[in-house]
Amino acid sequence: MPVYVGVDDTDSAQGMCTTYLVTEIIRRLNFPILYGLPRLVRLNPNIPWKTRGNGALSIILGGDAQGSSVVGEISGVPVLSSRIATGVSDSLSVVNRAVRSVVEEAAMMDADNTNPGAVVSPAPVNEALYWKAVRGIVEKEEAILFAREAGAVVNEWKNGRGVIGAASALSWRGQNSTFELITYRYRHRWGTSRDINVVDVSSLSDRFPSTFNNYDRATRHPCIYPSSPCPVLYGIRGTRPEVLPEAMKTVRSEMPERWLLFETNQATDDHISVLNGSPSLFSSYVVQGTVRSYPETVRGGHVFFEMTTHEGIILLCAAFEETKDLRGIVRGLIPGDSITVWGAFKPPAGELLNGSLNIEKISVNALARRWIKKSNPVCSVCGRKMESVGRGKGYRCRKCKQRSDMPEMTEARRTVSPGIYSPTTSSRRHLSRPAEMTVQSGVACQTVTGSQ
Ligand code: ATP
Repeated sequence: MPVYVGVDDTDSAQGMCTTYLVTEIIRRLNFPILYGLPRLVRLNPNIPWKTRGNGALSIILGGDAQGSSVVGEISGVPVLSSRIATGVSDSLSVVNRAVRSVVEEAAMMDADNTNPGAVVSPAPVNEALYWKAVRGIVEKEEAILFAREAGAVVNEWKNGRGVIGAASALSWRGQNSTFELITYRYRHRWGTSRDINVVDVSSLSDRFPSTFNNYDRATRHPCIYPSSPCPVLYGIRGTRPEVLPEAMKTVRSEMPERWLLFETNQATDDHISVLNGSPSLFSSYVVQGTVRSYPETVRGGHVFFEMTTHEGIILLCAAFEETKDLRGIVRGLIPGDSITVWGAFKPPAGELLNGSLNIEKISVNALARRWIKKSNPVCSVCGRKMESVGRGKGYRCRKCKQRSDMPEMTEARRTVSPGIYSPTTSSRRHLSRPAEMTVQSGVACQTVTGSQ
């Protein structure tokens, strides 16, 4: 029987990374063949107590040697994974003991906000937990019930909140997935600046078009490595797992000490649900409707406008400063434009606001027509241009004394075109499916920033 191991909340902004801790578990268990790939499962990105990207981890032990392939390397030893399950010789309690000891040695136990959890199970956890954890808020007791229902051993440290992520990582089925290959640094380099060739990073998606979110052309910022003192050297995301080890070889950098390929729910939009009725705080939605008010830019460069959903609900939408060029698209909207917005419904940014839908992606579906004055009207009798009588008083022909209320109108040129737009690469959420990967029928796909 395979053994399912989930773990979360072992790191802090000061160090460690739960993905690295998983490599340590594999090492401690003496390199068992994995069933499937290790999993990096991003959960609700809106929960206030996350450290960074709200990622939880799982591995399944007990792959068959037949048909196995290399999916990583730790200190020179290959990590193997198979699509065929057999089982492990170690009992659940032996695996559990190894997992416990790795967490106790490696987790950032002294950090206030680090509350590790580990779940070791003979079976996957019910999928319902995943959908709640990626879209809503889960109580620890509820996660424990789900884990116990699968027959799991549940381990908690400190307040044990990590159990929520650990159990949820075992409940993801991965029908819709992408991949990330993460490389790790030698220990003596942790906390020092990373030596990675930026040109190799900026051209990565030209060499490997199935990789994504590598480089932010708008800010000229590589997006594959963190700035924190954690063990990660860099991570390359992509839709084709087999090309990622090749892509890794083309990035000149300090020598990685280990690497591991993960299956993930990144770039799947799994955190987004269709809005039915009023939104709940800390959840993410996709909403269709029309623009209700002209966008306004407030102090700090954030742009706000109102939309009316198809159900008649008025929502305040926000494009924050860090979304960079996306704000140019938002500023170009006018009342009546038909739009689809993907975003997180977050608490008030100011006293007067009841929460806003913070835009993660926007589709401009159809543009409203706007008419502007072209010139004074022409006299219908003599054909001369009329003159204005005064503000709001209409026009009059000087010769014939004919009057008209309306000037000649022309259709205003719009600065925004139909298409789907994402924020600049560096301000995208892990779970957000980038515009260039989002297909919406009848809508041309367009990315504002050079992206990648
Ligand atoms: P990193 O991305 O560096 O791994 P992180 O952002 O994942 O860090 P954690 O340190 O894992 O942050 O903290 C997130 C905490 O929130 C964990 O304890 C996890 O169990 C919990 N959690 C995750 N999703 C939910 C949810 N939907 N409801 C309640 N708690 C959650």
